[in-house]
Amino acid sequence: MTQLSPRVQHLVQPHLTQLDVYDPSFTPTRINLSANENTYDVPPRTRTAINEVLIATPTNRYPDPLSTKLRDELASWRHVSCDEIVVGNGGDELLYNVLLAFGGPQSSLVICPPTFAEYAFFAALTKTPLTAVARDKTTLLPDSEALVRAASQARLVVLTSPNNPTGDCASPELIERLCDTCPGLVLVDAAYSEFVQNDEPLETLLATHDNLLILHTLSKAFALAGARCGYLIAAPDIIEVLVSVRQLYSVNVLTQAAACVAVQARQDFEPTVAQIIAERTRLYDALTNLCAHSTGTVWPSEGNFLLICVAGASRIRTRLRNEYSILVRDVSATPGLADCLRITIGTPEENDCVLRALATLIEEESHE
Ligand code: PMP
Repeated sequence: MTQLSPRVQHLVQPHLTQLDVYDPSFTPTRINLSANENTYDVPPRTRTAINEVLIATPTNRYPDPLSTKLRDELASWRHVSCDEIVVGNGGDELLYNVLLAFGGPQSSLVICPPTFAEYAFFAALTKTPLTAVARDKTTLLPDSEALVRAASQARLVVLTSPNNPTGDCASPELIERLCDTCPGLVLVDAAYSEFVQNDEPLETLLATHDNLLILHTLSKAFALAGARCGYLIAAPDIIEVLVSVRQLYSVNVLTQAAACVAVQARQDFEPTVAQIIAERTRLYDALTNLCAHSTGTVWPSEGNFLLICVAGASRIRTRLRNEYSILVRDVSATPGLADCLRITIGTPEENDCVLRALATLIEEESHE
């Protein structure tokens, strides 16, 4: 990682001096399974409907700051009222806004690493003290008792369900206990919830827990990562603050229009989500089989990705890219994830390629 230049280090806010310079290096590969995107694009019928609505959308006016039409659409789908929803430029923007509104030096954020890296990053940007309640070293599941204890002192708790990159879901009982114990807010990041088999929507908990925030995105199941659209559901007074701190026009007119069509056509996405879930099971079984011949581990996952631990993970990731043009995420530098790779579920053909390549590489690396 590159550091900021010495001149800039003198000029930036003191808490930002150690910021890593963003590395834009990006290697295009034949198969990209590195960013937990949807491997399928928007289904053709819905894509055509989106194209038509984009043609009919003028761009000379500023967007509706509240994304009213989209908010109404989301509210009726999620059975909440529209004043319980805020829309943002991807879930990332909303997470940042939550830290902007509720974080800061006098606040505190509890997270359960290994988890999505942006929570700690946004906490650092907003000078929010961070408490990490580590997951079990073997199962990678959260330590519920330690988490509830930490929550009792916290202003903000973030729990990811399914968690990125470990793939496990938080039980509704744990979420309720956290809401009951925490004097502040509990945010459940449900970015991958559409991939949960028999998903029970968490929104029903909102009626009894007014300190619960639920984050969703259209980047995953809805195949709109490039359009940047996420939404957060919570009590109206929480939404009011988030609406007040956000960049007024962050969700552009084209994204609002496309997202409305996608949400209206949500049933059109069900076959590809079902396909990804089926492929996840197939890939999990095949990787577990591969690992049985080495010392590896694969964790069960409810997301559109799997976490695997194999000897020589970083070398395997580099060889996958250089020799097979397959990109997966090397997470082995993350504390608790030594020798781990995160693999997004691809199409059956892509998954076959990964499996064939990994069978060779795991075998070869085991002789290193
Ligand atoms: N939460 C989690 C757990 C994620 O993995 C991601 C994206 N990788 C996001 C939120 C944010 O997604 P987006 O900004 O694309 O909506």
